Amino acid sequence: RAIVRELGHIKEQHVKALHLMEAIPPQETDPTDFKRRFLKKIRKLGEGNFGMVELCLYDPKGDQTGELVAVKSLKTENECSNLRREISTIRNLYHENIVKYKGICNDEGANIKLIMEYLPSGSLKEYLPRNKSNIDQKRLLHYALQICQGMEYLGSQNYIHRDLAARNILVENESLVKIGDFGLTKSIKDDKEYYKVTEEQDSPVYWYAPECLINRKFYKASDVWSFGVTLYEIMTYCDRENSPPRVFLKMIGRSQGQMTMARLVEALGKGWRMPRPDLCPEMVYTQINSCWSHAPEDRVDFKGLIKEFEILLT
Ligand code: ADP
Ligand code: MG
Repeated sequence: RAIVRELGHIKEQHVKALHLMEAIPPQETDPTDFKRRFLKKIRKLGEGNFGMVELCLYDPKGDQTGELVAVKSLKTENECSNLRREISTIRNLYHENIVKYKGICNDEGANIKLIMEYLPSGSLKEYLPRNKSNIDQKRLLHYALQICQGMEYLGSQNYIHRDLAARNILVENESLVKIGDFGLTKSIKDDKEYYKVTEEQDSPVYWYAPECLINRKFYKASDVWSFGVTLYEIMTYCDRENSPPRVFLKMIGRSQGQMTMARLVEALGKGWRMPRPDLCPEMVYTQINSCWSHAPEDRVDFKGLIKEFEILLT
């Protein structure tokens, strides 16, 4: 009987072990850990104020069968903590209108890299001027809706993007766009509704709401203002002649440094806004203007914008 009991016990342990093997498949490597030696640069995709993004082939087998990825690194080494912050933000975001995090490359030295999915069509700023003849206004409004959906999700996670602009909206294909570049994104603490900038960095001023320029305070509603500027860009098909910096400078005149900021703040305070682009329907310009109310509390929010675009698209 003892032997039978012993056999039963052994069987039980065997079954347990089998279950364990099924539950946890053997994991040889961490799929988010990219090795620098397997990362082959193909070409540069773009660069902004702080970062540089390159198209690479990640090819651990060394037979050109690997996958294409977008790799972001920093132009200057001392910005490293910014990229680390960007990585810790983007790796927590899961939404179809937000660029996908794939992993990091952090071996062979301290210079960390962010590995993202590669979007072959680049940003709206490159894509729209090139494909103008194939993209009708309805499609543009679909892009606007998708950006709002991504932004609504970002806000629900208590983040403010702070750099919403056509150059930071990536194109997956003609009917899908994603928000990228979380380099300036900040998390707002639970007991606060805004983020206060402490460091003096050069900011995309022509995309910024008055409260950002005057008090350096960023609310979710400040992202709404920037969305209005982004939608303005989209409705011009990102035409260089009508870019926000050009249109503003035409209005306030060219000047130096702080003077430009002061004039910009003054013009916005007096109620001056970028005029309706030629091809932009009145109904859409109304939406743009609802993003540009002087006081943050008077602006529409992303939920409200989603509703409006859904109506415009039916
Ligand atoms: P920065 O913080 O320096 O502005 P971004 O993340 O905005 O860097 O990237 C700079 C440019 O690189 C973008 O405007 C876009 O043209 C290109 N780019 C960025 N990420 C991708 C990607 N995942 N796929 C394709 N192109 C990209
Ligand atoms: Mg950028």
